[in-house]
Amino acid sequence: MNESSVFSYFFMPIDANGLLDTAQFIFSPNHDERPEGSAISLLVIHSISLPPDEFGGNGVIELFTNQIDPDAHPYYQNLRDLRVSAHFFIRRDGAVIQFVPCLKRAWHAGASCWQGKERCNDFSIGIELEGSDDTPFTDAQYSALLSLTRCICDHYPIEHIAGHADIAPGRKTDPGSCFDWDRYGSGLPRNLIRRSTSNTPT
Ligand SMILES: [Zn+2]
Repeated sequence: MNESSVFSYFFMPIDANGLLDTAQFIFSPNHDERPEGSAISLLVIHSISLPPDEFGGNGVIELFTNQIDPDAHPYYQNLRDLRVSAHFFIRRDGAVIQFVPCLKRAWHAGASCWQGKERCNDFSIGIELEGSDDTPFTDAQYSALLSLTRCICDHYPIEHIAGHADIAPGRKTDPGSCFDWDRYGSGLPRNLIRRSTSNTPT
Protein backbone atom coordinates (compact mmCIF):
# COMPACT_ATOMS: atom_id res chain seq x y z
CA MET A 1 0.00 0.00 0.00
CA ASN A 2 1.46 3.35 -0.96
CA GLU A 3 1.28 6.55 1.04
CA SER A 4 -1.76 7.97 -0.69
CA SER A 5 -3.70 4.78 -0.02
CA VAL A 6 -2.87 5.03 3.65
CA PHE A 7 -4.01 8.64 3.62
CA SER A 8 -7.31 7.82 1.99
CA TYR A 9 -7.92 4.86 4.24
CA PHE A 10 -7.46 6.84 7.42
CA PHE A 11 -8.84 10.19 6.39
CA MET A 12 -11.85 9.37 4.22
CA PRO A 13 -13.82 6.87 6.29
CA ILE A 14 -17.45 6.12 5.50
CA ASP A 15 -19.72 5.46 8.46
CA ALA A 16 -22.33 2.72 8.80
CA ASN A 17 -24.97 4.89 7.13
CA GLY A 18 -22.81 5.50 4.12
CA LEU A 19 -21.76 9.03 5.02
CA LEU A 20 -18.23 10.19 4.30
CA ASP A 21 -16.78 11.78 7.43
CA THR A 22 -14.68 14.31 5.57
CA ALA A 23 -17.33 15.56 3.14
CA GLN A 24 -19.69 18.44 3.65
CA PHE A 25 -23.16 16.91 3.80
CA ILE A 26 -26.06 18.73 2.17
CA PHE A 27 -29.32 16.80 2.36
CA SER A 28 -31.04 16.03 -0.93
CA PRO A 29 -34.65 14.83 -0.77
CA ASN A 30 -34.12 13.24 -4.19
CA HIS A 31 -33.38 9.71 -3.07
CA ASP A 32 -35.13 6.59 -1.83
CA GLU A 33 -34.39 3.05 -0.73
CA ARG A 34 -32.42 0.67 -2.88
CA PRO A 35 -34.35 -2.47 -3.80
CA GLU A 36 -33.82 -5.16 -1.23
CA GLY A 37 -30.81 -7.32 -1.91
CA SER A 38 -29.15 -5.04 -4.45
CA ALA A 39 -25.42 -4.93 -3.81
CA ILE A 40 -23.58 -1.71 -4.62
CA SER A 41 -21.47 -2.95 -7.51
CA LEU A 42 -21.04 -0.01 -9.91
CA LEU A 43 -19.46 3.42 -9.62
CA VAL A 44 -20.71 5.97 -12.17
CA ILE A 45 -18.62 9.02 -13.04
CA HIS A 46 -20.49 12.13 -14.19
CA SER A 47 -19.74 15.76 -14.86
CA ILE A 48 -22.02 18.71 -14.38
CA SER A 49 -21.91 22.48 -14.13
CA LEU A 50 -24.72 24.97 -13.71
CA PRO A 51 -25.12 27.20 -15.52
CA PRO A 52 -23.37 25.07 -18.17
CA ASP A 53 -19.62 25.74 -18.33
CA GLU A 54 -19.70 28.02 -15.29
CA PHE A 55 -17.93 26.79 -12.18
CA GLY A 56 -17.98 27.74 -8.52
CA GLY A 57 -21.60 28.76 -8.10
CA ASN A 58 -24.43 27.09 -6.24
CA GLY A 59 -26.43 25.87 -9.24
CA VAL A 60 -25.70 22.18 -8.74
CA ILE A 61 -26.48 22.38 -5.02
CA GLU A 62 -29.73 24.15 -5.83
CA LEU A 63 -30.62 21.51 -8.42
CA PHE A 64 -29.99 18.61 -6.08
CA THR A 65 -31.99 20.25 -3.29
CA ASN A 66 -34.92 21.33 -5.49
CA GLN A 67 -34.17 24.99 -4.92
CA ILE A 68 -33.24 26.06 -8.40
CA ASP A 69 -34.82 29.30 -9.58
CA PRO A 70 -36.05 28.75 -13.16
CA ASP A 71 -35.82 32.48 -13.82
CA ALA A 72 -32.21 32.82 -12.70
CA HIS A 73 -30.78 31.62 -16.03
CA PRO A 74 -32.37 30.69 -19.38
CA TYR A 75 -31.01 27.13 -19.13
CA TYR A 76 -32.71 26.64 -15.78
CA GLN A 77 -36.12 26.60 -17.47
CA ASN A 78 -35.22 23.05 -18.59
CA LEU A 79 -34.62 22.01 -15.01
CA ARG A 80 -37.88 23.24 -13.55
CA ASP A 81 -39.40 19.87 -12.64
CA LEU A 82 -36.25 17.77 -12.53
CA ARG A 83 -35.77 15.69 -9.41
CA VAL A 84 -32.19 14.47 -9.42
CA SER A 85 -29.23 13.97 -7.13
CA ALA A 86 -25.90 12.23 -6.86
CA HIS A 87 -24.15 10.77 -3.87
CA PHE A 88 -21.09 12.99 -4.30
CA PHE A 89 -20.08 16.22 -6.02
CA ILE A 90 -16.40 17.14 -6.39
CA ARG A 91 -15.70 20.84 -6.84
CA ARG A 92 -12.93 22.23 -9.04
CA ASP A 93 -10.78 22.72 -5.92
CA GLY A 94 -11.29 19.10 -4.85
CA ALA A 95 -13.80 19.81 -2.09
CA VAL A 96 -16.27 16.94 -1.72
CA ILE A 97 -19.95 17.49 -1.02
CA GLN A 98 -22.21 14.54 -0.26
CA PHE A 99 -25.95 14.73 -0.93
CA VAL A 100 -27.16 11.17 -0.36
CA PRO A 101 -25.79 8.45 1.96
CA CYS A 102 -24.22 5.64 -0.05
CA LEU A 103 -26.69 3.08 1.25
CA LYS A 104 -29.61 5.04 -0.22
CA ARG A 105 -30.51 5.22 -3.90
CA ALA A 106 -29.58 8.56 -5.45
CA TRP A 107 -31.23 9.62 -8.70
CA HIS A 108 -28.25 10.23 -10.98
CA ALA A 109 -28.31 7.67 -13.79
CA GLY A 110 -31.81 7.97 -15.24
CA ALA A 111 -32.73 5.45 -17.94
CA SER A 112 -29.62 3.31 -18.03
CA CYS A 113 -28.26 -0.17 -18.52
CA TRP A 114 -25.03 -1.85 -17.53
CA GLN A 115 -24.14 -5.31 -18.74
CA GLY A 116 -27.77 -6.26 -19.16
CA LYS A 117 -28.99 -4.78 -15.89
CA GLU A 118 -31.28 -1.78 -16.17
CA ARG A 119 -31.98 0.99 -13.65
CA CYS A 120 -28.37 1.53 -12.65
CA ASN A 121 -29.41 3.74 -9.75
CA ASP A 122 -30.45 0.55 -7.95
CA PHE A 123 -26.91 -0.79 -7.68
CA SER A 124 -24.58 2.16 -8.19
CA ILE A 125 -22.97 5.12 -6.49
CA GLY A 126 -22.85 8.35 -8.50
CA ILE A 127 -20.01 10.85 -8.38
CA GLU A 128 -20.40 14.19 -10.15
CA LEU A 129 -17.29 16.16 -11.09
CA GLU A 130 -17.83 19.89 -11.47
CA GLY A 131 -16.96 20.38 -15.11
CA SER A 132 -18.08 20.12 -18.68
CA ASP A 133 -17.38 17.91 -21.68
CA ASP A 134 -14.91 20.41 -23.12
CA THR A 135 -12.87 21.47 -20.09
CA PRO A 136 -10.02 19.47 -18.53
CA PHE A 137 -10.59 18.53 -14.93
CA THR A 138 -8.24 19.79 -12.23
CA ASP A 139 -5.44 17.98 -10.42
CA ALA A 140 -7.36 18.53 -7.19
CA GLN A 141 -10.37 16.77 -8.66
CA TYR A 142 -8.37 13.72 -9.76
CA SER A 143 -6.80 13.54 -6.34
CA ALA A 144 -10.11 13.80 -4.52
CA LEU A 145 -11.77 11.36 -6.92
CA LEU A 146 -9.06 8.77 -6.37
CA SER A 147 -9.23 9.04 -2.60
CA LEU A 148 -13.01 8.84 -2.68
CA THR A 149 -12.96 5.88 -5.07
CA ARG A 150 -10.50 3.95 -2.91
CA CYS A 151 -12.62 4.62 0.14
CA ILE A 152 -15.82 3.51 -1.59
CA CYS A 153 -14.11 0.36 -2.82
CA ASP A 154 -12.97 -0.37 0.73
CA HIS A 155 -16.58 -0.31 1.92
CA TYR A 156 -18.69 -1.67 -0.93
CA PRO A 157 -18.30 -4.54 -3.42
CA ILE A 158 -17.60 -2.34 -6.45
CA GLU A 159 -17.01 -4.47 -9.53
CA HIS A 160 -16.87 -1.82 -12.24
CA ILE A 161 -16.42 1.90 -12.78
CA ALA A 162 -18.04 3.48 -15.85
CA GLY A 163 -19.05 6.86 -17.15
CA HIS A 164 -22.60 8.08 -17.42
CA ALA A 165 -22.14 7.98 -21.20
CA ASP A 166 -21.30 4.27 -20.92
CA ILE A 167 -24.53 3.37 -19.15
CA ALA A 168 -26.76 5.73 -21.14
CA PRO A 169 -25.15 5.79 -24.60
CA GLY A 170 -26.76 8.15 -27.07
CA ARG A 171 -28.50 10.00 -24.28
CA LYS A 172 -25.59 11.18 -22.13
CA THR A 173 -22.02 12.23 -22.94
CA ASP A 174 -20.57 12.93 -19.50
CA PRO A 175 -17.97 12.92 -18.08
CA GLY A 176 -16.87 13.78 -21.63
CA SER A 177 -13.73 13.43 -23.68
CA CYS A 178 -11.66 15.62 -21.35
CA PHE A 179 -11.92 13.12 -18.52
CA ASP A 180 -8.63 11.23 -18.41
CA TRP A 181 -9.63 7.62 -17.77
CA ASP A 182 -6.01 6.41 -18.00
CA ARG A 183 -4.89 8.84 -15.33
CA TYR A 184 -7.78 7.82 -13.10
CA GLY A 185 -7.24 4.13 -13.68
CA SER A 186 -3.50 4.30 -13.02
CA GLY A 187 -4.22 5.48 -9.48
CA LEU A 188 -6.57 2.64 -8.64
CA PRO A 189 -5.42 -0.47 -6.82
CA ARG A 190 -7.02 -2.75 -9.42
CA ASN A 191 -8.49 -2.51 -12.86
CA LEU A 192 -12.12 -1.62 -12.30
CA ILE A 193 -12.77 0.69 -15.23
CA ARG A 194 -15.01 -0.63 -17.99
CA ARG A 195 -15.67 1.65 -20.92
CA SER A 196 -18.42 0.30 -23.08
CA THR A 197 -21.10 1.61 -25.32
CA SER A 198 -22.47 -1.77 -26.32
CA ASN A 199 -24.12 -2.58 -23.01
CA THR A 200 -24.72 -6.11 -24.11
CA PRO A 201 -24.52 -8.87 -21.54
CA THR A 202 -21.24 -10.71 -21.59
ZN1 LIG B 1 -24.39 12.34 -15.70
